Amino acid sequence: MPIPGHIDPVPVPREVTPRADGRLDLIGLSRAQIATIFGEAGLDAKAAKLRAKQVFHWLYHRGVTEFDAMTDIAKTMRPWLAERFVIGRPDVVEAQVSNDGTRKWLLRTADNHDFEMVFIPDATRGTLCVSSQVGCTLNCRFCHTGTMRLVRNLTPGEIVGQVMLARDALGEWPRGSMAGLDFDEPDDGEDAADYTPDGRLLTNIVMMGMGEPLYNFEHVRDALKVVMDGEGLALSKRRITLSTSGVVPMMARAGEEIGVNLAVSLHAVTKDVRDEIVPINRKFGIEELLQACADYPGASNSRRITFEYVMLKDKNDRDSDAHELVRLLRQYGLPAKVNLIPFNPWPGAPYECSTPERIRRFAKIVFDAGISAPVRTPRGRDIDAACGQLKTAAERKSRAEIDRLAEEKQAALDQV
Ligand code: SAH
Ligand code: SF4
Repeated sequence: MPIPGHIDPVPVPREVTPRADGRLDLIGLSRAQIATIFGEAGLDAKAAKLRAKQVFHWLYHRGVTEFDAMTDIAKTMRPWLAERFVIGRPDVVEAQVSNDGTRKWLLRTADNHDFEMVFIPDATRGTLCVSSQVGCTLNCRFCHTGTMRLVRNLTPGEIVGQVMLARDALGEWPRGSMAGLDFDEPDDGEDAADYTPDGRLLTNIVMMGMGEPLYNFEHVRDALKVVMDGEGLALSKRRITLSTSGVVPMMARAGEEIGVNLAVSLHAVTKDVRDEIVPINRKFGIEELLQACADYPGASNSRRITFEYVMLKDKNDRDSDAHELVRLLRQYGLPAKVNLIPFNPWPGAPYECSTPERIRRFAKIVFDAGISAPVRTPRGRDIDAACGQLKTAAERKSRAEIDRLAEEKQAALDQV
């Protein structure tokens, strides 16, 4: 559904685009799409379907990047595939590791756009923070990504490619033979007893990297469907969270067509403050947003909506803000939890983080009202990997440039 207004992202009409050498990248395509392009390349319908099922499994269950490794596909068939298709990954420009174990990758698309992805390990889980766009068309005042000028939607392949790369880097693909385990295929010479299932380092995905996922709805949906496909990566929808700054018209579709957990970047409880710090509020206000949350398909007490609230000193962190937050969540009957995020600074940012005492006090008010209100521990700050710090080096600008850009984006919003 097109969303009117100047703040919409530049559309990128390329679901399946051949590379310079004419070959198609299979990553990001569903099994049905793979069967279709195999059919278009000359296989009959039955063969196309079978090959698509096998190839999909090799791509997403085993993580192979060469057709030659697909041992249950006839040796003569493999060069046929390699002539026409590739199994791509985004290029890694730089990989950094924080002193707290957080890892950040600077990635590059085939057409030379840089974007970032972050992996956050902790005791019980490993969360991959995935980008949906290069930059962001929105301009939340506290977010470094929002100061990037360059924006392009990432394709499903580039979104799924982040998960594939993370698994490559973490060494998470299963090893050993699948023969006899998944298909009635001939033994490939490896011993089935050597088979080890995939590791469990990467357990969760959050669409909280660069960009506004609901301004790239179709690509994000198609990518997450591939990630959730039981024949491949098979991540449960309960382990995936999509964070939106409040693109109200797309929220119902997100619930119906993707069905993952929802996080909403609320960050303020009055129109004035939210208009200032999350400018999309001028288009879709707090009431409309909370109503869309109340209507979100799949939200329940066992699957609560997360409200993200960045703690900005003297801006949104008063006791009265906390009380108003509780009132609003109650008014809309929302099964909610509140995630308090200490503001992560970046050069030229116009805000400071609230004091630890203030954050504790704010959290207590919300918690005492019976709403879970954990304070998020900042991770990876030393490598600029924390929330809101993502911005590619090529795009770093002076304060004056940031202000000018903010004014331009604001002016565009005002006209809507
Ligand atoms: N565009 C989406 C998802 C990406 S941002 C959204 O806005 O929800 C992921 C989260 O990081 C959002 O809640 C965002 O508001 C928050 N964030 C952005 N900049 C931040 C900063 N400097 N410090 C702390 N959190 C920040
Ligand atoms: Fe975009 Fe989210 Fe940053 Fe706002 S907080 S500018 S929506 S990435």
